[in-house]
Amino acid sequence: MSHNAESTAFRSALEVIRAVEPRVADAIGAELTDQRESLKLIASENYASPATLLAMGNWFSDKYAEGTVGRRFYAGCQNVDTVEALAAEHARELFGAAHAYVQPHSGIDANLVAFWAILADRVESPALKKAQVRQVNDLTEADWFALRRELGNQRMLGMSLDAGGHLTHGFRPNISGKMFDQRSYGTDPATGLIDYDRVAEAAREFKPLILVGGYSAYPRKVNFRILREIADSVGATFMVDMAHFAGLVAGKVFTGDFDPVPHAHIVTTTTHKSLRGPRGGMVLCQPELADQVDRGCPMVLGGPLPHVMAAKAVALAEARRPDFADYAQRIVDNAQALADGLLRRGATLVTGGTDNHLVLIDVSGYGLTGRQAEQALLDSGIVTNRNSVPQDPNGAWYTSGIRIGTPALTTRGLGTAEMDQTAELIHTVLTQTTAGANADGTPSKAKYTLDADLADKIARQATDLLAPHPLYPAINLT
Ligand SMILES: *Cc1c(COP(=O)(O)O)cnc(C)c1O
Repeated sequence: MSHNAESTAFRSALEVIRAVEPRVADAIGAELTDQRESLKLIASENYASPATLLAMGNWFSDKYAEGTVGRRFYAGCQNVDTVEALAAEHARELFGAAHAYVQPHSGIDANLVAFWAILADRVESPALKKAQVRQVNDLTEADWFALRRELGNQRMLGMSLDAGGHLTHGFRPNISGKMFDQRSYGTDPATGLIDYDRVAEAAREFKPLILVGGYSAYPRKVNFRILREIADSVGATFMVDMAHFAGLVAGKVFTGDFDPVPHAHIVTTTTHKSLRGPRGGMVLCQPELADQVDRGCPMVLGGPLPHVMAAKAVALAEARRPDFADYAQRIVDNAQALADGLLRRGATLVTGGTDNHLVLIDVSGYGLTGRQAEQALLDSGIVTNRNSVPQDPNGAWYTSGIRIGTPALTTRGLGTAEMDQTAELIHTVLTQTTAGANADGTPSKAKYTLDADLADKIARQATDLLAPHPLYPAINLT
C-alpha cells in the first residue's frame, strides 16, 4: 500500500465533509494538529492505525444488528456477521480465549455485560431461572419481586479507587456501586504493592460473589493465579478488567501468572488503550458464561456498532502480528526508562517504579497537588492527568498524583533516550512550579505559579522531542 493512499483517503473524506459542514472538517483537521504537537502521556490514550480509523467511517454504521452472529433480530446482517465473527476469531486467537464478545461500545459497557452474565450464572433465583427459559409470561408479580431482591445487593470485592481501581468496580459514582454491596482491597502502605494475604483475608470475611482484578492506575504486574486461588477458596467468580493493559497481554509481555485470560472466569477490556484499536470494549470468557455474555445486547447494551466491530477486526489483526509484541515490550521499556529518569532526579514514585505501561508520581514531594502539577505540565506542552495516590490526603478531585503512560508516545516511535529527556522536562516543570495561596492566605490546592517563559521553553523542547517522530507521517491534509 502506498503512503499516498492514506493521505488521499483522509483528504478526500474531509473534502466531502467540508461540503456539508466545514466547521466539522476544520475541527477534525485541528485535532490532528493538536495531537501531533502535544507530548501525550495520558496512560489510557493511544493512536489507532489509519486502517483502523478508516474501517469506522462507512455504511456499516447504518446497519442494525441486534443479536449475535447468525442469530439476528434484523434481516440482512450477513456482512455484519462477517466482521463480527472475524473480530471475535482474532480476539480468541490473540488472547487464547474460549469465547469472545466484541459488541460492547466501551469498557464500562463490557463490565455491565460481565456483571449481568455473572449474576445470571451465579445467583440462586428460581424466578430468574424461569425468566431465562423464556417462560416470562408464567412469572407472577411475586416472582418478579423475588427476582429483583435476589439479584440486588450481591457482594463484590475489588481494588480500592485510591490504590488504582476503577469506578466500575463497585464505586458510588458508577451504577456498580449502587447495585452491589462492595468492599475493596488496597495496597500495602509501605511498599504500595497488592498484599495478597490481605486480599485473601478480606475474601474470607466478606465472601464476595465476584472478585475483581484489574486497575487504571497501579504501576505493577498483578498475579492473577493467586487471585484466582483466592476466588476459588471462597467460591467467588473471578473477573479481570484489563482495560488498561490488554496490549501488554496481547503482546505477551504479561504471561503465565500475569496473563489474566487463563486464570479468570471472565475478562473485560477496552480496545482503544494499550491495545491500540478503535474506541470500544470486549468481553472474553470461559465457555460456561458464553451464553449469558452473548445476551449483552439487548440485555444491557444498545444495538451493536458494526463499523466499530469492523475496526476491531482490523486492529486485532494488527495486534496478532509479530511487530505488536515488539511494540508492547517497548511500551514497558519506555515506562521503565521514564521511571528511572524521574527517580534519578529525585521524584517519588508510587511503588518506587513500574513494570507495566504507567508511572504514578507522588507530587507532594514537589509541594504540589495533582491538580497544580497537571495544569503546570499542560502549560508546558506535556499532557498528563492527575490521579489519586494510596491514602491520598487531597481526595479524588485535587489528588496528590500525576499518572503518566507510554503507549501513545511508543506508537510514535519515541524510545528510552527520549523518555529520559521527557523525565527531565517533567522534573523541571514540577520543581519550578510553586503552589499558590487563596485570598485569605491559606494554601490553595488549585493555584500555582510557573514562569511563562520557562513554560514556553519546555513546550518548545517537547515539540523538538516529537519532531523526529511525526504522528501519521503519511498523512498530509494540506
Ligand atoms: C478505562 C477503563 C474503563 C472504562 O472504559 P470506557 O471505554 O471509558 O468505558 C473500565 N475499566 C478500567 C479498568 C479502565 O481503565
